[in-house]
Amino acid sequence: MREFDAIIIGAGQAGPALAARLTGAGMTVAFVERKFFGGTCVNTGCTPTKTLVASAYAAHLARRAADFGVLLEGAVTVDMKRVKARADAIVAESRAGVERYLRDMTGCTVIEGHARFEEPQRIRVRDELLVAPRIFINVGGRASVPDMPGVHDVPFLNNRSMLELDKVPEHLIVVGGSYVGLEFAQMYRRFGAEVTVVEKFPRLIAREDEEISEAIREILMNEGINVRTSAECITLASHERGVEVGLNCREGDPTSVGSHVLLAVGRRPNTDDLGLEVAGVETDARGYIKVDDGLATNVRGIWALGDCNGRGAFTHTAYNDFEIIAANLLDGESRRVSDRVPGYALYIDPPLGRAGLTEREARATGRPLLIGSRPMTRVARAIEKGETQGLMKIVVDAETRKILGAAILGTGGDEAIHGVLDIMSAGVTYDVLQHAVPIHPTVSELIPTMLGEMRPAE
Ligand SMILES: Cc1cc2nc3c(=O)[nH]c(=O)nc-3n(C[C@H](O)[C@H](O)[C@H](O)COP(=O)(O)OP(=O)(O)OC[C@H]3O[C@@H](n4cnc5c(N)ncnc54)[C@H](O)[C@@H]3O)c2cc1C
Repeated sequence: MREFDAIIIGAGQAGPALAARLTGAGMTVAFVERKFFGGTCVNTGCTPTKTLVASAYAAHLARRAADFGVLLEGAVTVDMKRVKARADAIVAESRAGVERYLRDMTGCTVIEGHARFEEPQRIRVRDELLVAPRIFINVGGRASVPDMPGVHDVPFLNNRSMLELDKVPEHLIVVGGSYVGLEFAQMYRRFGAEVTVVEKFPRLIAREDEEISEAIREILMNEGINVRTSAECITLASHERGVEVGLNCREGDPTSVGSHVLLAVGRRPNTDDLGLEVAGVETDARGYIKVDDGLATNVRGIWALGDCNGRGAFTHTAYNDFEIIAANLLDGESRRVSDRVPGYALYIDPPLGRAGLTEREARATGRPLLIGSRPMTRVARAIEKGETQGLMKIVVDAETRKILGAAILGTGGDEAIHGVLDIMSAGVTYDVLQHAVPIHPTVSELIPTMLGEMRPAE
């Protein structure tokens, strides 16, 4: 049995940074990782997908070269082996960097293997027993397999196995028209595949406002992606050309046959094989570890960070979990997860940057609202870049004058949204942003203009 001051389970987005702070404060840390250092983001999430999105953008721009007066001879082709090699190299470098960082950390002992609780303060990794008064769970999640008829009878892909493809599929059917599915759908269309997106709800990314969903649908359809919504009962069956997906949509063909099928219908936490029940750590009905506002579980001395606590589903929320725990444990602060302003991006092209509430959520609060919006066709930077698809919108509380939420779907939207996020985090009124002097020509410069043109919500 080996004793430490702390045990961290999972080298995802929160654990390594936490190890650095704990060891920096003089503690000994046992760090347990069962597979790839860097977790989902580095290995099968953000890093490889955004790398592939960049290759897809290059192909798209090359096809549009003549629009900019640039002439390329012959057809644009994509060498998927080279595209994959580029992504693999960037992932490998990043993964190795995380591992090196942990192994070189004074006071940190890296242990490879699957961690499981034996008691609240005791963890088993293979034949080793580790004991510590503080245990931090950062185990992340994985793609969930939906309970669809036929799902166990056909080969299907998920976000992990998609990254192993080194050929462009003839026809990729993406089941799930949300964040993960749409990024893969657009990139593979740009790599040259026929692509069909199948979504059970009447519109894509149904948690966004309707006009955002519609604009995204238009962007994808403009590139020749088939979008099939209201697929109320999706079925899967073997077919001589691959997989037949039964759609049961209200309109259009009742089936679609793809050479490959990607299931992108949500994620589940890696908490079913941790022995949480032995430790007495409570989870909710979907397996997420229940935590309080400081990310402590119901068991004293055990905290949960990142995707596994269900309080965020992003790299930046996992990292912010680390910041909250470190500040509260080591710096005498009392930071809370409920103070976090929600923000995220969807990396189709053009990207969607989001902050705070949607208009629908803001209306549900019953507060009086001011709403502003502007199409990207009226943004000089977008016109100059020849990328005018999308729109931006903002929702403000008319009484407090605080910004409640915003969406920027357009070129540079993933960056421009930070002006709004920062003002929301600062807790100041929208006038502060309206009176700022942004740089020309940028997408950000139109946010103050949009704020000046807001109208009361009807
Ligand atoms: C396709 C895709 C694209 C994404 N793109 C983005 C993006 O652009 N931006 C963004 O912010 N987020 C993105 N995400 C989400 C992001 O990857 C996750 O939110 C983030 O990785 C969560 O980090 P985490 O620290 O909670 O866990 P993870 O990164 O999942 O790490 C958990 C680690 O714990 C290990 N582990 C699990 N169980 C055990 C155990 N019992 N013993 C030992 N080790 C264990 C795992 O092996 C893993 O290394 C994407 C996700 C996907 C799937």
